[in-house]
Amino acid sequence: MSAANQDQARATELRRLLNHAAHAYYVLDAPELEDPVYDRLYRELLELEAAHPELITPDSPTQRVGGTPAAAFSSVEHRIPLLSLDNAFSSEELEAWYGRLLKVLDREPGTALPMVGELKIDGNALALSYENGLLVRAATRGDGERGEEITANVRTITSVPLRLLLPHPPAWLEVRGEALIPDATFAAINAERVERDEAPFANPRNACAGTLRQLDPKVVAARRLDFFAYTLHLPQEPPQGPRSQWECLQWLQRAGFKVNPNAEVLPDLAAVEAFFSAWDTGRRSLAYATDGVVVKLNDLRLQDAAGFTQKAPRWAIALKYAAEEAPSRLLRLACQVGRTGVVTPVAEFEPVPLAGTTVSRATLHNADRLAELDLHAGDTIVVRKAGEIIPEVVRVLGELRPAGATRLALPNLCPECGSELVREEGEAATRCVNSSCPAILRGALRHWVSKGGLDVDGLGAKLIEQLVEKGLVGSIADLYRLDGALLASLERMGAKSAENLVTALAASRAQPWHRQLYGLGIHHVGEVSAKALAAAFPSAAELATAAATAAAAPPPSITAVFGIGAEIAQSLQQWFATPANRLLLEQLAGLGFSLAAGPGELAASAAAAGQQAPLAGQTFVLTGSLPSLSRSAAQALIEAAGGKVSGSVSKKTSYVVAGEEAGSKLSKAEALGVAVLDEAGLRALLEM
Ligand code: NAD
Repeated sequence: MSAANQDQARATELRRLLNHAAHAYYVLDAPELEDPVYDRLYRELLELEAAHPELITPDSPTQRVGGTPAAAFSSVEHRIPLLSLDNAFSSEELEAWYGRLLKVLDREPGTALPMVGELKIDGNALALSYENGLLVRAATRGDGERGEEITANVRTITSVPLRLLLPHPPAWLEVRGEALIPDATFAAINAERVERDEAPFANPRNACAGTLRQLDPKVVAARRLDFFAYTLHLPQEPPQGPRSQWECLQWLQRAGFKVNPNAEVLPDLAAVEAFFSAWDTGRRSLAYATDGVVVKLNDLRLQDAAGFTQKAPRWAIALKYAAEEAPSRLLRLACQVGRTGVVTPVAEFEPVPLAGTTVSRATLHNADRLAELDLHAGDTIVVRKAGEIIPEVVRVLGELRPAGATRLALPNLCPECGSELVREEGEAATRCVNSSCPAILRGALRHWVSKGGLDVDGLGAKLIEQLVEKGLVGSIADLYRLDGALLASLERMGAKSAENLVTALAASRAQPWHRQLYGLGIHHVGEVSAKALAAAFPSAAELATAAATAAAAPPPSITAVFGIGAEIAQSLQQWFATPANRLLLEQLAGLGFSLAAGPGELAASAAAAGQQAPLAGQTFVLTGSLPSLSRSAAQALIEAAGGKVSGSVSKKTSYVVAGEEAGSKLSKAEALGVAVLDEAGLRALLEM
């Protein structure tokens, strides 16, 4: 298909999908798309139409505001159309809007025009007409030209004054604002709906729209809607009438309306950005939902001069908060082979901003999830990332699938080593079982040198990749056979860093037994279980014997260890039964690893067996760097001997262990008269 045809096909599909979604959203109050997903796809259509105006059709959702008024209510024409708002999703878009505004107003670039920042309340816009101070009509926005007449329902909202508090009200005026349902009421309504077997509302805005369209005003009254006023239209501005948006808000308040108390006058764009970010956190403690802030030019005469586009005022913009969901287009299905050989499908897609970062990869977990998603090449997917959560693919928008796209599945062969992948009965994971697969080897090496393992500095993922790729390292033991000159010849390695790495590797032999055990990467053996196992079985030989004793059932002496279950026991059994693993232990022993607990650790196991540990009840604080022990090694030794390590010095601290470049903790220890040790002193305490 040519690029032009592709654009046309995409525009047609987007139009169909967005129109369908808008109907579900505005008319049925039951959205089928997440709002940020709708917004992004809408944006994509706008951009396609801007690049190719011939693609614009009269039924495009970009050509109209909102939805058609529902037939159940009589439709009324708005005296002044109720438009939408343009959106900005980034500082650049905000600046671009402001730049356009200055241009329309014929102002120098960089001129600061005062604005008003208001919260963008996630409710429904209402237009309220007052004649001689009395509420005579209330209407929804509808399609912007015509809305639904819902006066009887709006009369039940207690924050909408039925009579204005004005001594001489004008013959006619219109007030606009947002009807909303507070979060607590929303939760209660949904709980009731679920109880009655009705579908819960997707969000407070849809619940509010559904409520405003109730045929029985008594139901509306029971739902306790609220209303914040934000726009005032007077027929002809009286000379003493408001001249700015800020004055309008004050006027509305005097007339008896509830005005949101969080509005502010903002002198320039920097203040707008500060207002926006402050409310990104602030909104979490509000009793109602907001989805951004609205910024409006303050001066009403300038608003008039700036005017409107077809859909929205030029003098206002909605700034929306970082979305946690967004659509993107799948570029590639990648497969990651982990340390244990598990193959994880990963979606690589066009980068999208999500929850404050740009995301371009998301896990698809396993073959089952992949099948469930029914992923095809070139699919438009919905990606979610909330806060710290790892990005994931939520679903596929099948409507936007390119014609003839192929269905995606995990490969049969390992993408790293080409051997056949295996999926055991009843297991979700697909695995590569070739123990010399480079991906498994890289994972094993990374795990061995990790912080919780042997904690070797200077051996990052990139270097490991090089070592494996060049065939310089084929096992954990090979790391200890590397010489400085060879390392120095590698990419991005100097003589100094090579030398440091050799020293760090040599020093890592002194790491305690439980770290060595963890570093071996035995399936299910994490840091905590490695500690428990190391205390119960003070050497690899003893653990191997225990693992081998019961050939069929899980070894009983292992499961007797506190916190160690059958899963770990079985995994140990398998691990020790594998010849390659036993060979690794032999090689490590040959390279000077004790694979057993040192005296300090033995003391801890003795303590575990009911005897007194040498450092029991004593608290240590570590500061500065010790000549041969890393911070984590020193901590592990102290803990293994029954001592505690704390981060701050107090009168209760037993010892401060200080090395080179010790900081304020040392001076504090001296001030409080706490005993200070160097590494030799610590070793003496540990009888090492
Ligand atoms: P909008 O919601 O982006 O902004 C306009 C509205 O903001 C106004 O009509 C008003 O109701 C509201 N508002 C809140 N506080 C305000 C304030 N202080 N001043 C002025 N207005 C304020 O635009 P829209 O045209 O109403 O709707 C488009 C939005 O609806 C999209 O952003 C999308 O998220 C959602 N939508 C979703 C779907 C879906 O399928 N999920 C479909 C259609 C529309």
